[in-house]
Amino acid sequence: MISHSKITVDASMISKVECNMCGNTVWDVGQKIAVRADFLSVNMLWSRNSNKEGQEDHWDLCEECYDKLVLQFKVPITTATPTDAEQFKD
Ligand SMILES: [Zn+2]
Repeated sequence: MISHSKITVDASMISKVECNMCGNTVWDVGQKIAVRADFLSVNMLWSRNSNKEGQEDHWDLCEECYDKLVLQFKVPITTATPTDAEQFKD
């Protein structure tokens, strides 16, 4: 597990997002009825400490696929409850 900084993306700039694992649309503001579900978005620029130096990968997961993925982890994820999260507000 590593520490990382947060990247904020303005949601109004996103038009459509599909889950890379199952293909379901998780975000589409172009439809008459907009799809706006939470999803995990990963951006990775590989450094010289990898075999993919300079390669930039991007993928997104819907909540259901996220749950399936994290269940496979040997080290459980760190989770904050809403009460804990409120402590991190400005
Ligand atoms: Zn999915």
